[in-house]
Amino acid sequence: MIRVNKQGEVWVFGEQHRGRLEDTPIELMSKGRRLADTLGVKLATVVLGNGVGDLATKLIHYGADKVYVAEHPLLGTYQTNSYAKVMFDLIHKYEPQIVLYGATITGRDLAPRIASAAKAGLTADCTDLQIGDHRTQDDKLHKNLMFQIRPAFGGNIIATIINYDRWPQMATVREGVMPPPEPDVTRRGEVITEKVQLTQQDLPLEILAEHKRPKKVNLKTARIIIAGGAGVGSRENFKLIWDLANCLGAAPAASRAAVDLGFIDKDHQVGQTGTTVRPVLYIAVGISGAIQHQAGMSQSQKIVAINNDPEAPIFQVAHYKIVGDLNVVVPRMIKGIKEKK
Ligand SMILES: Cc1cc2nc3c(=O)[nH]c(=O)nc-3n(C[C@H](O)[C@H](O)[C@H](O)COP(=O)(O)OP(=O)(O)OC[C@H]3O[C@@H](n4cnc5c(N)ncnc54)[C@H](O)[C@@H]3O)c2cc1C
Repeated sequence: MIRVNKQGEVWVFGEQHRGRLEDTPIELMSKGRRLADTLGVKLATVVLGNGVGDLATKLIHYGADKVYVAEHPLLGTYQTNSYAKVMFDLIHKYEPQIVLYGATITGRDLAPRIASAAKAGLTADCTDLQIGDHRTQDDKLHKNLMFQIRPAFGGNIIATIINYDRWPQMATVREGVMPPPEPDVTRRGEVITEKVQLTQQDLPLEILAEHKRPKKVNLKTARIIIAGGAGVGSRENFKLIWDLANCLGAAPAASRAAVDLGFIDKDHQVGQTGTTVRPVLYIAVGISGAIQHQAGMSQSQKIVAINNDPEAPIFQVAHYKIVGDLNVVVPRMIKGIKEKK
């Protein structure tokens, strides 16, 4: 735990793999910038790795005022212990007031380890972050805290979590919920190179080889998404979703129920425990529109819903509503699109 340092910077963990910056630190830069500006402090990113110094310029273009670069051959591959040790040392040295991580596999592994070592709080999987004041029961006013906002109780309530004494205030943020800023190549910032003290003893694992299964679909970058739900009925009938997606050059996606029923792979799941998407067009087919599904798609620019239940909650967020049997509507759509081509 560090002291409550109201002059402390806002930090974003600059997650990278093999020298390639992940999407999440870039997504976090717009929110990080807003938090830092509200607090009147600097926005900094921290990049750990080996041969990653070049990423600093990119992060500055995306909004960082400062980039701390910690390079060491033993940081070449992510390991919890080594990364947590270096981050922990930097947090103690610079006392940032806020540290943000993407809720990626790495972020979800690293942030709790640092929170535990630093005896600091951590809110997992936030969907929003704001700055605000809070009065505690003993009538003490804590100004300018980070409100860590996330769905709770299965997504049925939105909880706001604060941490006024066990600093830094730390959160992981769900992937895809924060729109990335536009880069500004004229921005200038400060790059601080940190000395890293690590020995082989700090690494409990020896990594012999890495095998990474590539994701089958990148829903985050898809402009058009056709998502099928349990209403599609079977894996065989899910071919309707693939066919409509092919016609429109769209990405096929699904609700969790459709994934759980084995209609399609988990990589395609949209929602609270899937991917958060904001395409130009989202067509929801046989999806009821549970709050956990809406959490991942309600930011889509245009939503078309096809459902045979006129009361389905998906219609509350849809811009175009088609009440009918998907087995009739979707083949008609496919036929119509093919005829137009
Ligand atoms: C902690 C937690 C996390 C969750 N995370 C997610 C998540 O990330 N993503 C997600 O999607 N869900 C998630 N869920 C599950 C969510 O609550 C719903 O159960 C799920 O979204 C329902 O999927 P569905 O709409 O496909 O199925 P259903 O709710 O069963 O809806 C099927 C719909 O199809 C319609 N239908 C049926 N037949 C036809 C037909 N012939 N033509 C037209 N329409 C038809 C029905 O009217 C109905 O509206 C989560 C739940 C919890 C508790």
